This record gives sequence, structure tokens and C-alpha cells, in this order.
Amino acid sequence: MLEVVNPATGRMLRGLEPATVADADAAVARAKAAFPKWRAVEPAERSRMLRRLADALDRERESLAQLESRNTGKPISDARGEMGMVAETFHYYAGMPERNLGETIPVSGGIDMTFREPLGVVALIVPWNFPLTIASWKMAPALAAGNTLVLKPAELTPLSAIEFDRIALEAGLPEGVVNVVVGPGRTVGQRLVEHEDVAKVAFTGSTEVGRGIMAAASKTIKRVTLELGGKSANIVFADADLERAAAAAPPAFLGNAGQDCCARSRILVERSAMDEFMSHFERAVKAVRVGDPASEKTEMGPLISASHREKVASFVPEDAPVAFRGAAPEGPGFWFPPTVLAPVSNSDRVAREEVFGPVVAVIPFKDEDDAVRLANETVYGLSGSVWTTNGAKALRVARAVETGVLSVNSNTSVRVATPFGGFKQSGIGRELGPRALEHYTEVKNVYFSTEEDQVGR
Ligand code: NAD
Repeated sequence: MLEVVNPATGRMLRGLEPATVADADAAVARAKAAFPKWRAVEPAERSRMLRRLADALDRERESLAQLESRNTGKPISDARGEMGMVAETFHYYAGMPERNLGETIPVSGGIDMTFREPLGVVALIVPWNFPLTIASWKMAPALAAGNTLVLKPAELTPLSAIEFDRIALEAGLPEGVVNVVVGPGRTVGQRLVEHEDVAKVAFTGSTEVGRGIMAAASKTIKRVTLELGGKSANIVFADADLERAAAAAPPAFLGNAGQDCCARSRILVERSAMDEFMSHFERAVKAVRVGDPASEKTEMGPLISASHREKVASFVPEDAPVAFRGAAPEGPGFWFPPTVLAPVSNSDRVAREEVFGPVVAVIPFKDEDDAVRLANETVYGLSGSVWTTNGAKALRVARAVETGVLSVNSNTSVRVATPFGGFKQSGIGRELGPRALEHYTEVKNVYFSTEEDQVGR
């Protein structure tokens, strides 16, 4: 029995019979059977169907947000924002079927044209931190391009995916186009990655599991996109609006209780501004409201599980340089207080490894070159921020940091219309924005001879 738990209380929300490898095979078979009809749906009609689905998701936004908040422990206001993005993502890609354009290429003796063809059955494997949001980033472009799909949510947070399955059917998506299997990664997930009838795997999760998926996918030369871990830098120069930078820094490391691949879990501060920044930052961290996710005022909830809390705690040993901490409820539930470590060296474990909890390492730097060197001294490259009032410096640093997404004077990373993904060991490929469709299509090149007497060349 799979026990789905509310992390804020530790109590069981629902018991589920976990899927088996045979269930995964059956889901792939359903998706395969549905593919020819789904790919043949006229683009304008596929748009209309996806729009109806987006509208249905919008109508069910509140109940989905409540469910997601109970299952993940995220504050209800965050869950509402995320469910808004889920509907918006479907609205955005609903406009794509008729914009899934090819090219015409002038060649001698005829006309060459390209088409973007769907891949077939795609498997989508997602983590527990933003369950339906991350699934929607994959499902919407996959469906818009004419693929059918099997979605495997994380074992800890399957409830919103199960609801999505119902909503998609009720909104009129044909049977077999969307299939949800709730089961363990190492059996059900692994099977999807190895299955001969799955053309592509889109995975979001840890770098370690991503590495295994890439290796397993090689057996069938599957297409793979990976959104993996991060250790992003929040770079604060002395000429920045320090009060504003400090006020924006807490949500950037403790949003979603720090369980965010984009978390700016290293704050690099120009040495001359360290004292002033830290005093603003302390005030901002201590003002964060940690508590009941159901309360409208809550800004941070619990961690996802007891075992994850142990892992996070291992980054704050007895002798850790704790500068200050925020508050957290005692329990029940898997609470961990916002924790600021300073000063930290970039070679310390907490500065190198992904904590995935509300723990941040503050690292001083000397000058611009030093900041860029420290920011890049990591195997990851997902997101990051630069705070400065010097525009030229902001652009120089933005270009020099090896990362997929970077914000200037802001700590946000994700927008439906712009590409999201990582450099280095943070992943392969980009989600969101118009280009995501490329990861769910193959280019077909058709040459059409215009010469009457041409013998095949
Ligand atoms: P995880 O890698 O443990 O699991 C992710 C998914 O993979 C789950 O559904 C799991 O069941 C499945 N899985 C596990 N083993 C598998 C296998 N052998 N074959 C196939 N599937 C398998 O990650 P998690 O603990 O759920 O999530 C946290 C991680 O996700 C963090 O490292 C975080 O940085 C990363 N993440 C990245 C992004 C991004 O966009 N880059 C977004 C969110 C989370």
C-alpha cells in the first residue's frame, strides 16, 4: 500500500495500490493505441480541445490548489499561484498546433520542405516538489505536438496527477491520450525508460536519477530531456539596492521550503557590503511566517518527509557557522527553520551540494571576477540572480555565469513564455516557451521534385 501523507501533520491522506510493471506496460499500450487518432486530429481542433482542458483546469484551480497544498505542505497561496500557471501553460500551448511550422528550403530541381512530426508515446517522470506544475510543462507541449503520454508522478505526491487524469477525460481528451501510473521509480519509472514503445523520456528530478535515466534510455536510443538539480548563486554587488536585494533573498532560498531546483542557495555578497546586507537580510528572514500551509498568511510550510528532513539537517552540523535562524513550529509535521550560514567557503559541502531545504550559504567575494569565478565553481548551472545598479556590469556578469536562467535585480526564474533549463549537470533541453515543442517533435525533410524528367538523385 502506498501511503500518501500530509507533511504538515504526518497523517495519511490516502492509501493507494501502487502500479506494477504490468500496469506501466498497459499504460504504454493504451497510449500507443491512441496515438494514430490523436496525431490525426486537425491542428485547429487539437487547439480547441487543449483550450477546453485549460478552461477546465482554471475552473478547478481552487480544489487542485487545496489538494496540492495538503499533499506537499506548500502554502495555499503558493499552490494557488502554481495551479494558475498550470492552466496558463495549457492555454499557451493550446495556441501551438497551428504554429508548429516547418520550412521551405530552396534547392535545385525541386522544393524541399520540413515538417515537425510527433514522436509517438512519451513518458513523463516528475518529482514531488512542484507536482502538477512540472508535469504541465511537459504534458502541454507533448499533447500540442500530437504525442500521447504516460505520466509518472512521484510516489509521495500523486494526488494532483490523478485529478488531472479525470479532468482531462471530462474535458473531452480522447481515452488513452493521457495515462497516469502511480508507482515506484525504480520499477515503474525504470520500465517506462526501457520500454521499446516509448519514444522519449522527459524527466525532472535529481541529477543522480537523471544520470541513470540517460544511461538506460541509450539502449533504445530514446530522446531524453532532463531537468535536474541546482546550486544557484544570488550575486549581490555593493552598488546594489541592498535593502531590496535582502528583502528578495528569503523567498529565493526558502520558497517551497527550499525544495526548489532554482533555489538561490548560495548568496555571494561583495565583502564591503557584507555587514549592511546581513542586517537587512536577518530582519527579512526572521519576518517570514512559517506554519500551517492552509493559512492565507503562511509563507513557508514543512519539508516533504521525515527522511528528507534528516538529509537537510545533515547540512547543519553542531559546528556549522549559523548566523541566524527563523522560526518553525515544533510538530507534528516535518518542520525545519530557515537557516542562514555565514561566512561559508565555496568549497564547503553546503556550498557544493544541493540541500533542497531552507538553508542558505552566504559567501563573501572580492570583486567582479571573483564573483563570477565562485558562481561558476559548481557542477550545476540552472538559475541565478545578479543585483547591481550598474547595467553594464549586470550584463557582463549575466553573460559570464554558466547558467540556463539568470535574473537581474529579481529572484524569479520561471515564465510560461520563456525557456527554462540548465547548463552543465543541471540538465539537457529547455522547457516552456515556443522551443519546448522541438523536444516533442522530429524534423522530417521532404523533397518534392519539380522536374519532369529527373532520375532520382
Ligand atoms: P528523484 O530523482 O528522486 O525522483 C524524481 C522522479 O523519478 C520520481 O517520480 C521518482 O519516482 C522517479 N524515479 C526514481 N528512480 C527512478 C528510476 N530508476 N527510473 C525512472 N524513474 C525514477 O527526485 P525527487 O527527490 O522527487 O525531487 C528532487 C530533485 O528534483 C532535486 O534534485 C531537484 O533539484 C530536482 N528538480 C529539478 C527541477 C528542474 O526543473 N531542474 C525541478 C524540480 C526538481
